[in-house]
Amino acid sequence: MSKNYVIAFPRIGEKRDLKIALELYWSGESSYETLRNEASNIRKKHWLEQKESGIDFISSNDFSFYDNILDTSILLNVIPARFKDLKDEELYFALARGNKEAAACEMTKWFNTNYHYIVPEISKDANFELNSKKIIEEYKEAKSIGIKTKINLSGIITYLGLSKSVDNEDVYLNLNKILSLYVELLKEISLLDDEIIVQFDEALFVKDLDTKTLSLIKPVYDTLAKVSSNIKIVVSTYFEHSNEASKILLQTPIWALSLDFVHGSDNLLILDDIKKSNKVLIAGVVDGRNIFKSDYEAKVNLLNIIKQSIKEENLIISSSCSLLHVPYTLDNEDKLDTEIKDILAFAREKLKEISIISKLCFKSELSKSEKEEVVNNKIIQDKRKLSKTFNNEKVQNELKNLNKLQRSDKYEDRIKVQKEFFKYEDLTTTTIGSFPQTPEVRKSRRLYKKNEISKEVYENDMKEYINDCISFQEEIGLDVLVHGEPERNDMVEYFGELLEGFAFTQFAWVQSYGSRCVKPPIIYGDVSREKELTVSWATYAQSRTSKIVKGMLTGPVTILNWSFVRDDIKKAEVAKQIALALSHEIDDLQKAGIKMIQVDEAAFKEGYPLRSSNIKAYEKWAVDSFRLAVSKAHIDTQIHTHMCYSQFNDIISTIEDMDADVITIETSRSGNKLLKIFKEVGYKKELGPGVYDIHSPRVPSVDEIVKQINLLLEVLPKKQLWINPDCGLKTRKWPEVKQSLKNLVEAVHIVRNAKTS
Ligand code: GLN
Ligand code: ZN
Repeated sequence: MSKNYVIAFPRIGEKRDLKIALELYWSGESSYETLRNEASNIRKKHWLEQKESGIDFISSNDFSFYDNILDTSILLNVIPARFKDLKDEELYFALARGNKEAAACEMTKWFNTNYHYIVPEISKDANFELNSKKIIEEYKEAKSIGIKTKINLSGIITYLGLSKSVDNEDVYLNLNKILSLYVELLKEISLLDDEIIVQFDEALFVKDLDTKTLSLIKPVYDTLAKVSSNIKIVVSTYFEHSNEASKILLQTPIWALSLDFVHGSDNLLILDDIKKSNKVLIAGVVDGRNIFKSDYEAKVNLLNIIKQSIKEENLIISSSCSLLHVPYTLDNEDKLDTEIKDILAFAREKLKEISIISKLCFKSELSKSEKEEVVNNKIIQDKRKLSKTFNNEKVQNELKNLNKLQRSDKYEDRIKVQKEFFKYEDLTTTTIGSFPQTPEVRKSRRLYKKNEISKEVYENDMKEYINDCISFQEEIGLDVLVHGEPERNDMVEYFGELLEGFAFTQFAWVQSYGSRCVKPPIIYGDVSREKELTVSWATYAQSRTSKIVKGMLTGPVTILNWSFVRDDIKKAEVAKQIALALSHEIDDLQKAGIKMIQVDEAAFKEGYPLRSSNIKAYEKWAVDSFRLAVSKAHIDTQIHTHMCYSQFNDIISTIEDMDADVITIETSRSGNKLLKIFKEVGYKKELGPGVYDIHSPRVPSVDEIVKQINLLLEVLPKKQLWINPDCGLKTRKWPEVKQSLKNLVEAVHIVRNAKTS
């Protein structure tokens, strides 16, 4: 009896094998043939690994050279006109990465994960055509090594929903054309075997769908499910519940629904509907997007609840979503503390979990080692609740007894005192924090990490860089200076490495886009600050100048949103712990004379829930944790924050609630259009809308910046405005940065003089 299922498997490979193969091919060091062979080896390894771990339903077409939504665009021949002369692999990689003549397609975040897909561009004269080769070949390839796969396809409604229309038309006008290609595709698939399972990923169904989109579901799945009697259709959703869509799907002749019971517990509410429909339920109970070991007892309890409605023969145990969102395996992590390693599970380990949990659920015979694993699991879960490694009583008590949750003074009073204290002019100039990371700085950090240079040598290198940054900023006449962040490899990792409760791995890479992977920190236990984080660098920088140096921290919400976060307490609680740690840092900074402190919340928006009903709760704890982080700031300590966005329409009141004195944002690419919301809502606090785009090496002219500042002045008064670039400068080169900032300062002088004369 086939009883367990994996939505999809990571494709990047155990040691980022696909990344290496792709980059060799892109740089011309290997041929396409070599890349294809390597891809085939990776697929085979992954299929066999799943089979050997006891997985019954294994996917094909979950592999991709870059992204599976891009693969679907190729499948349907959705090719923007600027690429029309290209073919095959040249076309494929040009769509993803651009080429000399044409810009790449846009890339955007896959729901609330850190994976990015290539946005399909659909135009009125699109020439839809079926190109099923990849799908058919992958199926045959798996079968040649004895594995009958289920075939993963993008759901049509999700694919179109994530597309953009070049002509500003309703993308769903193309639904019937695409549906007929999918019908053709299913016919081809039906010839491959006696019986085949096809999984349609309809991730969009977990959003708040309007009635129009909901009305498309029945006709689409009625049609697809009727194409061939030997095809069984699974519709898969994840990251949230999909009850509105699920109810409709139950009225169609699909075979099974695959639902996420880890991140969408409301899916439990439709168990009785599923029971009535007599359809198969693929229950996602092993977390596919976080890295903590499943608690077997808790999972069996959850499955017992499900079994009260769903008959055993209609139940299959699964990952909650594709395992693409977790790293490959713990096996190579020989530097990780064993107690921490014991509570983790990456993709390979999750396969075992799925297999064991399905055996426990269906009371199948466990092997001796599996029995041991179950006993061990209980011990580990109990230990996790008590061990000092994960629980820090001091932090817990401090949080319980907190009486100061936010700053005591009102903004109106603060800003008066601050203006008096700092005496800064209107249109004060500053930057967002980082300056170009030179090869020398990177090398010094790397050598210090490997213990190949002493602390003294390392610190001297950093200090020299800071000296240069400070003198440069003074020389060109910026008003508020920064130290340049040479000591930081990454704005989250830097803080994670200094705080308690964080762990770092050697190989736990997760695909972010294409060959690009990230290795997020792991928050495994209570977070605390046992030593200073930034004070010595900030005070050193301040000692080099009589101008104000702005301290630089990463905010609690951003640290949280860019890490793997423990699943045994609420995220809000973890955010509070980080905030508390930062509040001590801010207090120490101000005691050391750093009176302007920026708390970056670059990823504030990324944590927004998929369902609007959950937004209020997120905003509440996100804002509360920011307020707690800055709660110790005195009336004359000015708190800045920075966000890498320009679109504030939906969240403006939340931003205001964060109660920072100054916020810097990215606006240069939208002129003053997106700024208007600040005026509309009567936003009172100070604001630094970026005046030039830092994402390109182009140096903005003085004239351009003057124009941009004047645009800002059409919307907001000069006493409310700061002048700065869009974001940090660490990815840029010094010559561009020097010229750009010189121009920025000159532009401000021109505007100031023009206004006063
Ligand atoms: N202070 C950080 C920097 O300047 C902010 C980066 C960001 O917003 N992503 O690099
Ligand atoms: Zn930014």
